[in-house]
Amino acid sequence: MTTETESMKPSILDKWKKRPLIISGPCSAETEEQVLKISKDLAETGKVDIMRAGIWKPRTKPGMFEGVGVKALPWLIKARQITGLPVAVEVATARHVENCLQFGVDVVWIGARTTVNPFSVQEVCDALKGTDIPVLIKNPINPDLELWCGGIERLKKAGIKHIGMIHRGFSSYGHTEFRNAPMWQLPIEMKRRYPDMLILCDPSHICGNRTGLHSVAQKSIDLGFGGLMIESHPDPDNAWSDARQQITADTLVSLLSSLVWRDETSHEKEFLNALATLREQINQLDDELMLLVSQRMRIADKIGIYKKENKITILQTQRWNEILGKAIARGEKLGLSKDFITKYFDAIHMESINHQNKIMNE
Ligand code: PEP
Ligand code: MN
Repeated sequence: MTTETESMKPSILDKWKKRPLIISGPCSAETEEQVLKISKDLAETGKVDIMRAGIWKPRTKPGMFEGVGVKALPWLIKARQITGLPVAVEVATARHVENCLQFGVDVVWIGARTTVNPFSVQEVCDALKGTDIPVLIKNPINPDLELWCGGIERLKKAGIKHIGMIHRGFSSYGHTEFRNAPMWQLPIEMKRRYPDMLILCDPSHICGNRTGLHSVAQKSIDLGFGGLMIESHPDPDNAWSDARQQITADTLVSLLSSLVWRDETSHEKEFLNALATLREQINQLDDELMLLVSQRMRIADKIGIYKKENKITILQTQRWNEILGKAIARGEKLGLSKDFITKYFDAIHMESINHQNKIMNE
């Protein structure tokens, strides 16, 4: 095993640098036949760089399929020998890491349910110390960026050099169009904090179905993500886990071919000049917006003084409903969504309330 592991290393690090990086494979390894079949199908597409497969499945409730465990590792290595596709496996404990390293798995990833738990992340990191295996870390299931950053920092401290993030969406209460809401502002902030780090999008776990995959994948590309992790299966409807969201290798090919890939920047002079001019206009408008908002706050301050003198409450629900209703109607005419206008005015209103609160309690 050791010799094979070492001989695989240069190739996985080369793959790791490829953009877009495409990882695909089953939610769970189920049988040797299934693993070999999907691996061959994916290799034949010529579009997949790494094959993924879960073998220890963190399930929400007991009694569900929890993965076949370590016995799937020889299947994955056999698949790699046949197809040349490097393999990636989810790890959640030190034992998982040890098993993967022993078999020469190429890439490991930390799942969303593990990222939430600093004890588990630390255990995984300790087991990874001294290796140079690339590690991907999914966002925690709850929208807490600091936990995601904490996981990355722990990996860095353990000496892991090749770290990538996977955005798989965030769970929320109730039924939404997504299985896990993308909350794009969070991965955007992670890109800002770690500008040189690979970030992949996992549209499969965001959507929880096949129909949404294209639009989520395209959106991630438009935001400059470095690649995709998409679940695939030879017979998706009969998959032992996440059956509704997996696709065949053929569907994966159609999906990937229908996406418009974009570069993060261009060196073309004309484009750069046009962009600089437009950005200057944006800067000017942002500046004017800030001035206007601060003028608005000064008026709110004056109202605050009157309210204080007349012992009137800060919150005037009827007035607020009036402002919001008008703004939404006007916003619609100006091409601004109701959702945006509501968030924007909520933020302004909250700031006014804070200003007036300060005045009242001075
Ligand atoms: C998976 O990738 O199959 C998985 C369990 O995903 P997540 O950690 O995003 O829920
Ligand atoms: Mn899955």
